[in-house]
Amino acid sequence: MYPKLLWKREALRQNVETLDLYCQKQALQWIAVTKGFCAHLPIVEALVQSGVTHFADSKWQHIHEMKERFPNIHVDLIRIPAREEIPYVVGVATRIVVTSYEVAHLLNEEAKSKNSIQPIIVFIELGDRREGISQEKATQLLKRLDELTHIRVIGVGMNVTCFNGVVPDGEKMQEWASFVERLPRKYDVYSGGSSSVLQTLWNEKPLPYVTELRIGEALLFGVEASYGEALPKMRQDVFELHVQVVEVEWKEERPSGMCSARTFQQGVRQNRDGLRKRAIIHLGAQDVAVEAICPVDSNIEIIGWCSDYTILDVTDCHEDIDVHSIIAFHIQYAALLRLTTSPYVTIEEMEKNEK
Ligand SMILES: *Cc1c(COP(=O)(O)O)cnc(C)c1O
Repeated sequence: MYPKLLWKREALRQNVETLDLYCQKQALQWIAVTKGFCAHLPIVEALVQSGVTHFADSKWQHIHEMKERFPNIHVDLIRIPAREEIPYVVGVATRIVVTSYEVAHLLNEEAKSKNSIQPIIVFIELGDRREGISQEKATQLLKRLDELTHIRVIGVGMNVTCFNGVVPDGEKMQEWASFVERLPRKYDVYSGGSSSVLQTLWNEKPLPYVTELRIGEALLFGVEASYGEALPKMRQDVFELHVQVVEVEWKEERPSGMCSARTFQQGVRQNRDGLRKRAIIHLGAQDVAVEAICPVDSNIEIIGWCSDYTILDVTDCHEDIDVHSIIAFHIQYAALLRLTTSPYVTIEEMEKNEK
């Protein structure tokens, strides 16, 4: 059934190998972040077969699914758990991200009741203004957490680029290093960021006080996350989206009649004069972030969309496009998030001969 999200095992494998290579040069670990594709198990399996053993996700449900299917892998919870989630994550997640005493205390209580010790990583705010304890308060929190008997702070971590787009440049990484140097004790793990720091790694510049990275976008799309630039030796074509055409008609681009501005993106459209050949495809805002997909054929243009249809201009397309033709798209991370969440999208491995 269409829409169909296709993925390529070989392209994923190459990205795993390249990440291994660059991380090994600096004796870094990298952890595969699976939230971008809802930890779809066949893709997780392909990663396991490529040698990945440590994963991370934001949802405890994904962690349970992965651990059930592959009992030997590690899976971190990289989102601060909500109160009700705590029983589901303690003893299951390899490590849990924490930024407050309140959450750590509840994790400690839960671990005590399970007679276990839960490893945690404390996230520090480094300017992106998403999650993280402020640097001034960090030392005191870390000391208090060391007094709790059933959690163990195995490391500190930081995250930039994800909210305000703060870039992990030399200055930012220096800020991190001097923060870590001022801490009262050493840790096993310094979790120093995501796909946005990879440009530094590719340039073979050092990342001081970083022992591991959490990698989602680069693994799946072959780009670093700060500017979306392609990383050498990585594949950008792991995913492809195929959608079916359900109407092809020559139509005026300009609407006829008085228009209000409430409809989807009504303000942003610039209508040309004359008749245009338009194809309507079976895909809309309910299935995908349409702004994050792009037709493989550059002669096809996305004109606009609504909940369940996307309108294409195919006037300049050299292929014959008819009702029931299939149109291929490149996708970005934001599109993948929703495609893998929608129950109306089929996810399939691309056949070898289609690659
Ligand atoms: C999503 C996420 C990542 C992965 O980020 P990418 O830019 O996709 O590599 C890393 N760390 C945290 C805390 C995240 O939430």
